[in-house]
Amino acid sequence: MGSEQKKRVVVVGGGIAGSLLCKTLQKHRHFDFTLIDSKEYLEITWANLRSMVEPTFAKRSVINHHEYLPGASIFTSDAIDIDEDNQVSTTEGRQIAFDYLVIATGHMGNRHVTKSERLRQFEADYEKIKSSDSILIVGGGPTGVELAGEIVADFPGKKIRLVHRGSRLLEFLGETAGKKALDWLTTRKVEVILGQSVDFDSSSDGTYLTSGGEAIAAECHFKCTSEPIGSSWLTKTILKDCLDGSGRLMVDANLRVKGFANIFAIGDVTDVPELKQGYLAHRHALVVANNLKLLIEGGDEGKMVKYTPAQPMAIVSLGRREALVQVRCVTVIGRIPGMLKSKDLFVGKTRKQLGLQA
Ligand SMILES: Cc1cc2nc3c(=O)[nH]c(=O)nc-3n(C[C@H](O)[C@H](O)[C@H](O)COP(=O)(O)OP(=O)(O)OC[C@H]3O[C@@H](n4cnc5c(N)ncnc54)[C@H](O)[C@@H]3O)c2cc1C
Repeated sequence: MGSEQKKRVVVVGGGIAGSLLCKTLQKHRHFDFTLIDSKEYLEITWANLRSMVEPTFAKRSVINHHEYLPGASIFTSDAIDIDEDNQVSTTEGRQIAFDYLVIATGHMGNRHVTKSERLRQFEADYEKIKSSDSILIVGGGPTGVELAGEIVADFPGKKIRLVHRGSRLLEFLGETAGKKALDWLTTRKVEVILGQSVDFDSSSDGTYLTSGGEAIAAECHFKCTSEPIGSSWLTKTILKDCLDGSGRLMVDANLRVKGFANIFAIGDVTDVPELKQGYLAHRHALVVANNLKLLIEGGDEGKMVKYTPAQPMAIVSLGRREALVQVRCVTVIGRIPGMLKSKDLFVGKTRKQLGLQA
């Protein structure tokens, strides 16, 4: 097959799913792929909280796209439109034509475009943590709980308060997980306030007001509430009617966007009924790489790989040695689950999957 006949695949979003998809496509000679990502780098999201207490950790978990995709066509830009002529438009006014398109825009994360800006942010977060005796964490999902775990492990003397709007921690997991996380944190003197939010507009001079009228004194705060889904840019595109009520892209069993033969979606942006987890985003990427290969080689559509939604399984790290794991309905907390995740946070494993040194 000559290069002029290669099918053009455009991947929008170079996060956990998009990065592995591109790496897999790069190994295949029939693909001519282009990655469009808002940032010049991949960020291994689950390492971010460690990087806030140990900024050098981010040198391995924030990876320039060119490092693992040498020679690839990569645009650092926001995609803003997809039109009926099979073109993606970017903020810079580029129009990138595709035969196949994959949407992998997961969540709107941080807005630092360059790797050096992102590394500087981790340094700044670290300085803030180090120099503050009292710290407010807002949000009791995995991000807030993992950040509290990192700070108590590395800076045991700090006064930490965690305010969470919900009635229990880790609401994406079962009740037992929330209770075990609460016990773990309170045993380490983290004050957890449930059922309240923080009103940042009314807060000033290191005093934060909660919806319950409590005034919390803290020298700094970290907002760990969930990021919006990265699909708002799709609301004026040809995919606008493919978003469900939560803003997720509706996909079929082959991970094709419903109603489109040549557009796939992978990772957190999809409506696949399962926990939104990076290891599942990786599975989506491999399914779609297979399906693209089959279609591009002229295979029978009926033979495309079907994706089966996964049973609930998640690991929440609690500092450098401990963690909480939930597999289906079973929840375990402590050093044994910690051995699975908490030391290296799967950074070496993820780098290896991208063909890099662990
Ligand atoms: C604190 C924390 C801990 C976690 N721990 C784990 C864990 O231990 N194990 C696990 O499996 N999962 C974990 N997760 C979940 C995991 O991070 C997500 O499931 C995963 O990142 C989803 O991958 P994705 O590629 O779909 O989206 P993302 O990784 O969110 O990537 C989306 C990409 O799209 C880009 N983008 C968005 N909009 C546009 C646009 N318009 N144009 C161009 N680019 C765009 C973004 O810049 C980003 O690069 C954790 C998440 C958090 C927050």
